Amino acid sequence: MFDTLSDRLSGVFTNLRGKGRLSDADIDATAREIRIALLEADVALPVVRQFIARIKERAGGAEVSKALNPAQQVIKIVNEELVAILGGETRRLQYAKQPPTVIMLAGLQGAGKTTLAGKLARWLRDQGHTPLLVACDLQRPNAVNQLQVVGERAGVQTYAPEPGNGVGDPVRVARDSIDFARRAQHDMVVVDTAGRLGIDAEMMQQAADIRAAVDPQEVLFVVDAMVGQDAVNTAQAFQDGVGFTGVVLTKLDGDARGGAALSVREVTGQPIMFASNGEKLEDFDVFHPDRMASRILGMGDMLTLIEQAERHFDQDEAERMAAKLTAGNQFTLEDFLDQLQAIRRMGPIGNLLGMMPGMGQMKDALAQVDDKDLDRTAAIIRGMTPAERENPKIINGSRRLRIATGSGVKVSDVNQLVDRFFEARKMMGQLGGMGLPGMRKRSAT
Ligand code: GDP
Repeated sequence: MFDTLSDRLSGVFTNLRGKGRLSDADIDATAREIRIALLEADVALPVVRQFIARIKERAGGAEVSKALNPAQQVIKIVNEELVAILGGETRRLQYAKQPPTVIMLAGLQGAGKTTLAGKLARWLRDQGHTPLLVACDLQRPNAVNQLQVVGERAGVQTYAPEPGNGVGDPVRVARDSIDFARRAQHDMVVVDTAGRLGIDAEMMQQAADIRAAVDPQEVLFVVDAMVGQDAVNTAQAFQDGVGFTGVVLTKLDGDARGGAALSVREVTGQPIMFASNGEKLEDFDVFHPDRMASRILGMGDMLTLIEQAERHFDQDEAERMAAKLTAGNQFTLEDFLDQLQAIRRMGPIGNLLGMMPGMGQMKDALAQVDDKDLDRTAAIIRGMTPAERENPKIINGSRRLRIATGSGVKVSDVNQLVDRFFEARKMMGQLGGMGLPGMRKRSAT
């Protein structure tokens, strides 16, 4: 996501590198290039205009800093302005004073509402809530069933109309679901509504009626980030027809130009609250404007990486590992294997590396880091006996050949793994317990 924009912007910054001070002509040229980059990324024209005006004004002199060189200053300004158009502060969910808190989802068909309902429910459940999913999309064949499947996967209950009882009246289903939630002590209700392929008065009216019936704390407008400019028009139509309190961007995993993301907040005035970046339940996160901006600028996203690591690594396990690492040579290939598996659970390695600072410019190198390499490394370790994993020094020539054959690699691969493991262990011993297991593991790969 945002790859093209990132690449273009980093080109702009590279051109500034080495300049002692910025002339007016430099600023104009830079502004022009940023403008092209944004337009190419499909950012809405009024948003681009305003953005460029701010950059020019700020880069134009008042903010001359002795601490930063011109390129750094421009990056800093662009970063701050990006954070601003993305909404500034992270916007958290608003909860009802009296449960249940009701969250209603609205958006076009195919935007990813149903998928999101599951993700949101799972995320809420993980935080100790007892969400109820409500199927109010009674238009699309199979939509109710789809939500039930999603709910099951997320481990939450789904409320759907009984056949013959209120079928066809989504407003009634929505209203009844709140009573049900109250009785069954669900503290959160997520209402999935029907979408259409295009903006349509009847659909808007239905969504507005549901909103009036359930009086939600949040109405989330769900929009597919891949649709480009249209997203802005759709957002405006939903804002006028139903009204919403927050935006969810979906399909940020696609290689869309992503300009919608940069425009919707500015155009509607409502904050982007969540982002979806895949079809799996866990491909979902709270939207942080500052982190997104630094990702766009290729500055990486350490915070997200750390949070993901925390989510996928058991805390006790991490502490045990940290203790072993501080002690240096207690770290074994068995531990390494555990960590490799934990990293693989976090998703494709390319995604993780993309979040690390400085990696933005290293796309080519990144492309070579193959998940298969990690899997092959894991296979080699699995081919070893527990004693060998504990102490790889005992692996002799014939065992190396046997392990290589067993895991389908060359003997040199086994040798390399063992050598690098010792090297890394030595290094890790020196570094002591760093906070992040994933980082340690990477340095040992
Ligand atoms: P709805 O009509 O708004 O309920 O949309 P759905 O939830 O049925 O999603 C439409 C399609 O988009 C489905 O095939 C989903 O699997 C897919 N989808 C939803 N969210 C994402 C996402 O974040 N990334 C990707 N790649 N696909 C998604």
